[in-house]
Amino acid sequence: MGMRELDNDSDSVVVIGSGLAGLTAAATAAREGRSVTVVEAHIEGGRARTDERNGYRFNQGPHALYRGGRGWRILRDLKVTPRGHQPPLRGAHVVRRGEKVHLSGAAMGSLLAKLVTASPAKWTGRCAEEWVQSLGGAPEVVQLARMGIRVSTYVADLEHMPADLAISQAKLGLRGGVSYLDGGWATLVDGLSSAASSTGAAIRIHESAIGIERCTDGWEVTLGGGEVVSARSVVIATGGPDAARSLLPVDPCWPELGPPVTAACLDLGLQGCRPPVMFGLDEPLYLSRHCPPGDLAPEGGAVVHVMRYGARDARLDRIELRTYARLAGISDDHIVEERFLAAMVVTHLLPSIEHGLAGRPGVEVPAAPGIYLAGDWVGTSGWLADAAMASGQRAGMLATRASSRPPLRPKVA
Ligand SMILES: Cc1cc2nc3c(=O)[nH]c(=O)nc-3n(C[C@H](O)[C@H](O)[C@H](O)COP(=O)(O)OP(=O)(O)OC[C@H]3O[C@@H](n4cnc5c(N)ncnc54)[C@H](O)[C@@H]3O)c2cc1C
Repeated sequence: MGMRELDNDSDSVVVIGSGLAGLTAAATAAREGRSVTVVEAHIEGGRARTDERNGYRFNQGPHALYRGGRGWRILRDLKVTPRGHQPPLRGAHVVRRGEKVHLSGAAMGSLLAKLVTASPAKWTGRCAEEWVQSLGGAPEVVQLARMGIRVSTYVADLEHMPADLAISQAKLGLRGGVSYLDGGWATLVDGLSSAASSTGAAIRIHESAIGIERCTDGWEVTLGGGEVVSARSVVIATGGPDAARSLLPVDPCWPELGPPVTAACLDLGLQGCRPPVMFGLDEPLYLSRHCPPGDLAPEGGAVVHVMRYGARDARLDRIELRTYARLAGISDDHIVEERFLAAMVVTHLLPSIEHGLAGRPGVEVPAAPGIYLAGDWVGTSGWLADAAMASGQRAGMLATRASSRPPLRPKVA
């Protein structure tokens, strides 16, 4: 069967998925004058959505933006200004054996000094647990180091976490700090969406892409309702590798990819209670108050996220998180809104110790020129949302370039 000619703009880009990765790609390509269409199966934002309940705004579990990260710079470049506050760490507790304990300043000082001088490159090819063990000193320092890596990477299984990535991420947190965003991460989604649409991108929600096929001048994306949209280049930003693979018209020949990083989350809207931040020393648990100081709740209210790094059985996780909330002084009477998220995918790919971030699939798909991938499992740059936006930006730039060239002639076997 002969290939169809493109019948719409020769510079067109279709972006599939409107999470941070897809919106970054769309805003990047639209700014360069490409004709961009974003198709989104649900509503905009993906895991960066913020849901409002009774005046309480919940991100999908606790979300903190790294001020020194790639994402921050990309957002600023696209004229999106994140506004927020530093975490309220004053009065924070650590929890050991189910009890709040005072943390010795000496242990903290000793760890910070070791972190400042640690060189990620020296630890390439080794696991984060090895680095932690190398710190020596009091057991408290070791536990504290594990806790610090969990908090900055969301990974609890340090034997399978590349040490260089863990150290870099902890240093990033230490250097620039993080921001809890006023209005939640929806402000990033809205900002990127406006950046894309103000330069002409069309964003079509409740439209699923179900297949991509070659045509003479590029690609045809088939939507769930049967419509076919033609494009010179396509960005697949659908969340994880399985969703991308199911759309790719070629076998991407990825080696075996690592597992996802998961978490169980309890999001709470409170009245009459402002609990302190609590970090689990011996258990992968965490409780953080995002408001106040952030603007996420009605007058006098608070928003708190309780989380277990590494989701297990949903029922057990929920009980454990509720117990943890009680330890912070939160009683049933304080809870106005409650949402449990059982097994959230924090990032779709934990890189291998051997290859680290270099082992993640690339933005380009060599067997399908003109198709690009973006997401928190793609490319060699960044971690979590930083990776989603870094790969989104690169995909948007490559799609821009591909769409300004003469028609691509993919190699057909
Ligand atoms: C509990 C939790 C806490 C987190 N905390 C942080 C944090 O503190 N800091 C940080 O940097 N990151 C954090 N993250 C990670 C961050 O949220 C993600 O890395 C980022 O939002 C991923 O964006 P994405 O665009 O790659 O994917 P997604 O947000 O998953 O977006 C994919 C989009 O594609 C759409 N889609 C899928 N298939 C199709 C299809 N066939 N057709 C059309 N559309 C489709 C989906 O509906 C979705 O909207 C956290 C994540 C979780 C779950």
